[in-house]
Amino acid sequence: MDNYEKNYLSQRPEMCIKCGLCCRVVTTTTPYEKLLEMREQGDKGAIDFLSLFEPYDSIDAARQVSAKTVDNVIKCLSEDGNFNERNTTFYKCKYLDDDNMCTRYETRLTLCRHFPSSPWAIVPPGCGYEGWLFMKREEAKQKIRKIKEELLELQLLKKKTKAPDILLKIQAVESKMLANIEIYKKYGSENW
Ligand code: SF4
Ligand code: SF4
Repeated sequence: MDNYEKNYLSQRPEMCIKCGLCCRVVTTTTPYEKLLEMREQGDKGAIDFLSLFEPYDSIDAARQVSAKTVDNVIKCLSEDGNFNERNTTFYKCKYLDDDNMCTRYETRLTLCRHFPSSPWAIVPPGCGYEGWLFMKREEAKQKIRKIKEELLELQLLKKKTKAPDILLKIQAVESKMLANIEIYKKYGSENW
């Protein structure tokens, strides 16, 4: 079991309420034309994605299916500076039936099995995972705050330490802690 499986996937409870929105109104930060290009070049992520999802004709067409989902995605992407209307396409999966059931559930792809794939995944408003994802984000923030406290103590110790071998050990631990904070940088760890 790898770390992602152990620390995230295996802990994720079954909380899906089968609203179908994550299959019916979907977007990516990669523009559609770029995805087509990547598929031509053999990119597995693009091949998988485009094997499931078909583009809506316009953002408004997706909004007619679920305005709250489209508006939530646009709000989240805008907050991160990742929204560009011209490059944004919404998609629907061709395997979702009218009762919001996946018609290839047993053979669904990894990208489906992993959804929501991180505590920071953008999920449709009302998704059964909303509360759990919030809790996981808070857990990650607490973990980083604790590392920052320990880092301060370590840096004080470093100032007082003269022995070169101990200093090396302290620096190794310090680097590990900084690397941990860096992993979460894109989610704002510098400000936690
Ligand atoms: S949006 Fe959430 S609750 Fe709805 S189908 Fe997807 S995972 Fe399930
Ligand atoms: S294959 Fe199934 S689980 Fe995956 S997006 Fe389509 S309907 Fe949803």
